[in-house]
Amino acid sequence: MARTKVNQPINLDEYKDIWVIIEQREGKVLDIGLELLGEGKKLAEKVGNKLVAVLLGHNNGDSAKELIKYGADKVISLDHKLLKVYTTDAYTKVISDIIFDKKPESVLIGATTIGRDLGPRLAGRVGTGLIADCTKLEIDETDGKVLQTRPAFGGNLMATIICPKNRPQMATVRPGVMEKADYDESKTGTIEEIYVKLEDKDIRAKVVDVIKSAKNHVSLTDAEIIVAGGRGVAGKEGFELIEKLAEKLGGEVGASRAAVDSGWIGHDHQIGQTGTTVRPRLYIACGISGAIQHLTGVKDSDIIVAINKNPEAPIFKVAHYGIVANLFDVIPEIINELDND
Ligand code: FAD
Repeated sequence: MARTKVNQPINLDEYKDIWVIIEQREGKVLDIGLELLGEGKKLAEKVGNKLVAVLLGHNNGDSAKELIKYGADKVISLDHKLLKVYTTDAYTKVISDIIFDKKPESVLIGATTIGRDLGPRLAGRVGTGLIADCTKLEIDETDGKVLQTRPAFGGNLMATIICPKNRPQMATVRPGVMEKADYDESKTGTIEEIYVKLEDKDIRAKVVDVIKSAKNHVSLTDAEIIVAGGRGVAGKEGFELIEKLAEKLGGEVGASRAAVDSGWIGHDHQIGQTGTTVRPRLYIACGISGAIQHLTGVKDSDIIVAINKNPEAPIFKVAHYGIVANLFDVIPEIINELDND
């Protein structure tokens, strides 16, 4: 089918169902897909739509069945050896073909490295808009418009944006912001396998090798406890103290952007608007002032503890417990207490 021009009048009534584009790595569905299914289910139920998981990969069988248990009413399985590893050309082609054919009302994509590449390309191909990096989705039950909220102006305000004339409504959503869908062994649904016509010549940039990062993977999104350091930690040596406390508590190490930009710790530890969004049970912020861009990434933590020597630091406005003190005095004391436990 021909490409739709942006703002070309379309019949909105033809569009239905909420689609979630599922990412998988080596045959394992990534959590972001399950988070989008959880949120997609709420949106779909409000307007009587179906929730559809779109699964791309090779040998998709088990993952497709799993997605039904995670709440999908239907899984569209696109199975081809050229879809095993993500490439922009292949994924854009096959997803846009089925969008033209089946006309979904909304398409949700993770704001992951892959999603941030795929989303704009796909929106351009099908002639719709894209609201990137959303942190909240709601639906207007009267007309099915999705209210898509994202940080704007450097995180200083939250903008709610709608896509009034074009379909599908398309959004990328930050990982870790939504709750994962519940697993229900008894849930049933349909799996539609679609024949994928794809040839080597359709893919201009080829993946020749995938090299796993040699360093230990930082799993901030799943962490139950995070001890994070900011500029107040004052250097790489200071982070050894943060790491020690995190290790004692069985948690992960996080950081503010100031600490990352200073080269004291890697970017994969950064929390906030341009880092990872986290929702641990316990978040301990050490020497972090509490800038809005940082708080965006931690606001859903169950308990926030702040250690800061400035009693006026904004972090104390969101912290459940605050310790006004020098972190280099307090953290060794906490470690000492834990050792004596
Ligand atoms: P500061 O703001 O400098 O705060 C350091 C704090 O440490 C102070 O409150 C000080 O009182 C305290 N302190 C100093 N010494 C001690 C001590 N010995 N003991 C106890 N306390 C001490 N930031 C992020 O974190 N994540 C992001 O994803 C992010 N994205 C951004 C995106 C954009 C578009 C922009 C414009 C900014 C972004 N920022 C982000 C940067 C953000 O605005 C702040 O600059 C940054 O969070 C500040 O980091 P900090 O709190 O570590 O440093």
